[in-house]
Amino acid sequence: MPEPTQNLFGSEEITLRERLAPVTPHPFHAGQIFHWIYGRGVTDFGKMTDLPLPIRAVLNDRFRIHPPAIASVARAADGTTKFTIRLEDGEEVESVLIPEGRRITLCISSQVGCALGCRFCLTAEMGLRRNLTPGEIVGQVWSLRQHAGLFDRTFNLVLMGMGEPMCNLDAVMAALGILADQRSFATPIRRVTLSTVGHVPGIRALARYPDRPRLAISLVATTDAQRDRLMPINRKYPIRELFSALREYPLRPKERITFEFVLMAGINDSLEEARRLARLLHGLRSKVNLIRYNRTGRGEFSPPAEYRVKRFRDRLLELGIPVSIRKQKGEEIYAACGQLALRRDVPPPGGKAGGGGPQSGRSG
Ligand code: SAH
Repeated sequence: MPEPTQNLFGSEEITLRERLAPVTPHPFHAGQIFHWIYGRGVTDFGKMTDLPLPIRAVLNDRFRIHPPAIASVARAADGTTKFTIRLEDGEEVESVLIPEGRRITLCISSQVGCALGCRFCLTAEMGLRRNLTPGEIVGQVWSLRQHAGLFDRTFNLVLMGMGEPMCNLDAVMAALGILADQRSFATPIRRVTLSTVGHVPGIRALARYPDRPRLAISLVATTDAQRDRLMPINRKYPIRELFSALREYPLRPKERITFEFVLMAGINDSLEEARRLARLLHGLRSKVNLIRYNRTGRGEFSPPAEYRVKRFRDRLLELGIPVSIRKQKGEEIYAACGQLALRRDVPPPGGKAGGGGPQSGRSG
């Protein structure tokens, strides 16, 4: 039996340098391999033509480059494509490619499942299985780029897939570091959007990074009573505490915090709610992204009528709050917000639940 090889995929350049030290005396070889793996999507040492042949042979004996594999692909009529990504231990996560005109957004996961138990979200039902490694986070972007041929394309990246990024922040930030490198994906960290349930220590930790992604907060409710019920994390970090962290959060010039607000019929879609939301956001550089509830098959909640979504938006606009309505995408393949839970062959509940409508762009 040959010795098992080490997987280099997911390593930062500095780690590559350490791992390759026994094989090559030249630290710049690590930089070249970094560029081959992440920049050009090459996993075969034999094809790394700027490395000396004998070194390629040794690399091949000792190492492998194994990105996570795409286990399945489902494409919705609107072009939204959901990928199931299989990890080395057999766990799976989902990532979504969302085309919008010329723009492409990749929505990626930070954990297998999620521990936070938001009542309206399907991922919550999986519970938390484990955190993703930096390589598994980078690997989703890598695999989607490979599959969709996105080399030489820029794309938006949002951490809005499975999991709570703040509960795996070190790995998320390490992954964003790899993705940002010019020899890699050249996706600047400040152009990535990280969405959180409002995990206060995470927000405070993120504030200390010199280079930060944009911040999106899944707010969903405007009173503690309601938010406690819908998002149990609120019992730990109530609205007041959340907003005090947000008011201290360092924003770049022109940067705003996005507040995602999942609208559910009869739950949080009243004009009174819109008014409370505007009051909460008063004085904070913010914008609101309204998400019409996507059905999860539990039957507990339902999406509000289209006119109520618009009415909610218009009230916020009247109150001076910038607001957009997130386009509903990929619902029939269970690729929409809150629907990622590795379901297969499940027809969407209740027939056509989505709506479309003249909606402004997904802000991410
Ligand atoms: N855990 C992080 C990252 C996931 S983002 C967070 O919650 O922010 C997923 C987004 O989808 C969140 O804004 C969440 O509120 C929203 N969402 C969850 N379930 C949904 C549903 N059934 N319909 C519409 N949006 C939903």
